[in-house]
Amino acid sequence: MAEKFDVIVVGAGPAGTACAYTLAKAGVDVLLIERGEYPGSKNVMGGVLYRKMMDDIIPGFYKEAPVERPIVEQRFMMLDAESAVTFSYKGMEWAQEPYNNFTVLRAKFDQWFADQAVKQGALLINETVVTECIVENGKVIGVRTDRPDGDVYADVVVLADGVNSLLAKSLGFHKEFRPDEVALAVMEVLKLDKKIIEDRFNLEGDQGCTIEIFGDSTKGILGTAWLYTNKDSLNIGVGAMLSGLIKAKIKPYELLEYVKQHPMIRPYIQGTEQQEYLAHLIPEGGYNSMPRIVGDGVVVVGDAAQMVNAIHREGSNMAMTSGVMAAEAIVRAKEAGDFSRTMLDSYRVNLMNSFVGEDLKKYKDATHHFEKYPHYFEKYIPLMNKAASQMFTVDGTPKREKQKKIWKDIGGAGDKFKIARDLLAAWKVMK
Ligand SMILES: Cc1cc2nc3c(=O)[nH]c(=O)nc-3n(C[C@H](O)[C@H](O)[C@H](O)COP(=O)(O)OP(=O)(O)OC[C@H]3O[C@@H](n4cnc5c(N)ncnc54)[C@H](O)[C@@H]3O)c2cc1C
Repeated sequence: MAEKFDVIVVGAGPAGTACAYTLAKAGVDVLLIERGEYPGSKNVMGGVLYRKMMDDIIPGFYKEAPVERPIVEQRFMMLDAESAVTFSYKGMEWAQEPYNNFTVLRAKFDQWFADQAVKQGALLINETVVTECIVENGKVIGVRTDRPDGDVYADVVVLADGVNSLLAKSLGFHKEFRPDEVALAVMEVLKLDKKIIEDRFNLEGDQGCTIEIFGDSTKGILGTAWLYTNKDSLNIGVGAMLSGLIKAKIKPYELLEYVKQHPMIRPYIQGTEQQEYLAHLIPEGGYNSMPRIVGDGVVVVGDAAQMVNAIHREGSNMAMTSGVMAAEAIVRAKEAGDFSRTMLDSYRVNLMNSFVGEDLKKYKDATHHFEKYPHYFEKYIPLMNKAASQMFTVDGTPKREKQKKIWKDIGGAGDKFKIARDLLAAWKVMK
């Protein structure tokens, strides 16, 4: 198969397919290589797909794509062992076009998206692993695959091979990611009758709800659990920093079992039947962990370049935007007949000036801050739950006395100035 294409894209996740779609639409000869049996067969996501970035690629995609439910409510649960403080935003503007986001099942969605790239003219080959980049005089000129005679050549290779990108690592773009740069997540898809989902989550018709669960759900380790509604199933999962899991000697599937049995969560998933069990790494090092993303004849997009905003659980949107921007830079390079690092660098410049670069920069110190000071999760969430319990328990104690008691507990949990300093530090890394 020693053939030459204009561009080879490695990996048919949101980043790679967005890139291949955009290139094919612009008339570029593009080969999309996927190691899975089909795109999405190996891919994992909590499940929220952001409408805007996908709509920019295929306007009105949600009318025909396999999306599950438009999200109208986002709940946030601060969990202690036997209690939760919950707040949420529900807005009917999200129940109608143009919508804000949708839950999706990646096995279905990625396959549909890759089909659209094929319809634009991209050539997709599945069940093929790219084992290395072919480099000549410092320039990437193709890829080696695990197929017999599996070398393929191109003017540009796009590395969209996801978290850990072994290919970018082999080019020296990054080192092995450290355990404090990735989270390990496990999740289950649980089958449940559509009508029960709607009643249980207070939803009308096809509307959907997401619940992010902090604190006791990860035993105080930096991370989160989630519970999302699909059409006739729920996604429940938990992810925590690998470094925290190693330190606490906790296995992620133990955390997930714990979450499923938690009295605040158990009622939501009663009567469900397990359909799928999935595990995956999430790149959470953010801006400070981003590798080099442009070289001679090569660009890196999506998770392969650590483009995840863990604070806002955004990744697929950043992956798609990076894929599109890489494609646009490649089209410019093709017009100029120059595939050098200097020419392709407009991808990096545009990306860093977009919401992707801006948001990654904004939260660049957040993950490491919360990981270094675990008491935000370990101490302050239980404190908040205790305060709520005291305040809302009607036992004849005057409210002023309750306030004094809460204030005393806060003092007992550490010096009040320290708490104020912590809150200020948290604000600084999030502002
Ligand atoms: C548990 C979990 C929950 C998440 N929740 C959300 C969420 O709710 N919303 C959100 O926006 N983001 C979420 N994310 C992040 C999001 O999934 C990623 O940011 C996004 O999938 C990145 O897309 P990508 O195309 O860069 O990588 P991927 O989706 O990982 O795709 C990489 C593709 O490359 C293929 N591949 C890898 N190596 C090779 C090779 N050598 N040869 C050929 N093919 C190869 C893989 O099979 C895969 O198809 C979550 C991630 C996880 C793990």
